[in-house]
Amino acid sequence: MRFALALKSDALALDFPTNSLPNRAVAAYLGMAIGDALGATVEFLTPREIVAQYGEHRDIVGGGWLRLRKGRVTDDTEMSLALGRSILSSGGVNADAAAEAFSAWMRTKPVDIGNTVRRGIRHYRQTGEPEVPLHEYDAGNGACMRTLPIALYTLGADVATIAAAHRAQAYVTHHNLVSDAGTLAVIQMVQVGLRGGTWQELRDLTKALVAADERYAFDRRRMENPSGYIVDTLHAVFQALFATDSFETALIDVVNRGGDADTTGAILGMIAGAFYGLEAIPKRWLAALEKDTALECQEQALALIAAAPY
Ligand code: MN
Ligand code: MN
Repeated sequence: MRFALALKSDALALDFPTNSLPNRAVAAYLGMAIGDALGATVEFLTPREIVAQYGEHRDIVGGGWLRLRKGRVTDDTEMSLALGRSILSSGGVNADAAAEAFSAWMRTKPVDIGNTVRRGIRHYRQTGEPEVPLHEYDAGNGACMRTLPIALYTLGADVATIAAAHRAQAYVTHHNLVSDAGTLAVIQMVQVGLRGGTWQELRDLTKALVAADERYAFDRRRMENPSGYIVDTLHAVFQALFATDSFETALIDVVNRGGDADTTGAILGMIAGAFYGLEAIPKRWLAALEKDTALECQEQALALIAAAPY
């Protein structure tokens, strides 16, 4: 399905019809950015430290170890936007364009950048290869945190096509099969949301992931302080998603677990944004997000679903 592009404007258009694809796609993007901005305040804190400093952390206030301005996002959102721009300008998902976009982003001296990401971009600059060697033991969440443009652009494609698009962007920095499995599940969960799918479909995707790799089993004990290991990250995301029944409560649940809270927030925000839609996103969070970021999220979401070829 194709939709007309919204004209560039300086205001968020939040009046997309309920349950429509543009509504859910924009909600996924804003959900990611809001999760990133909300979680960044408490990134690397423990739940106990969060309670001591904030009680329950539920507002976008900036600060944190990066000393962020209120409403500022971090690498999770910035790399997603860089990847999305590369898809739109190069006419598809391709590794060279993604690597070039990530390299250009690193040149902007980002507020935060992960070690695996930095190493991968350096590898591309030095060799011209947009793919790092297999890292069997390095299953960070850095490819998953920026996967949202892939979910929008490959909506309607078969799984093999989706997986190939995922690998093209992921292997610039993260070449790891555990990351692949978890990220593919996240892409498909976002797509369930974009299609207006059901809770049971989300459950089934996580069940299939656990059946394929039992490390992803997430029901035994509460994951607090989730690390940047993709299994820990998704453990917290899935628990929070399935323990709550709204965008707001899910996001508050996951970021108050601390640890890699901006990234758990970003990943949960994209899934829950698509699933619950724009109306479910609290107005106070939309208002707090930096305006340029919010507008670019909206424009890119609409452009990607308009360009999606499947
Ligand atoms: Mn981050
Ligand atoms: Mn993070």
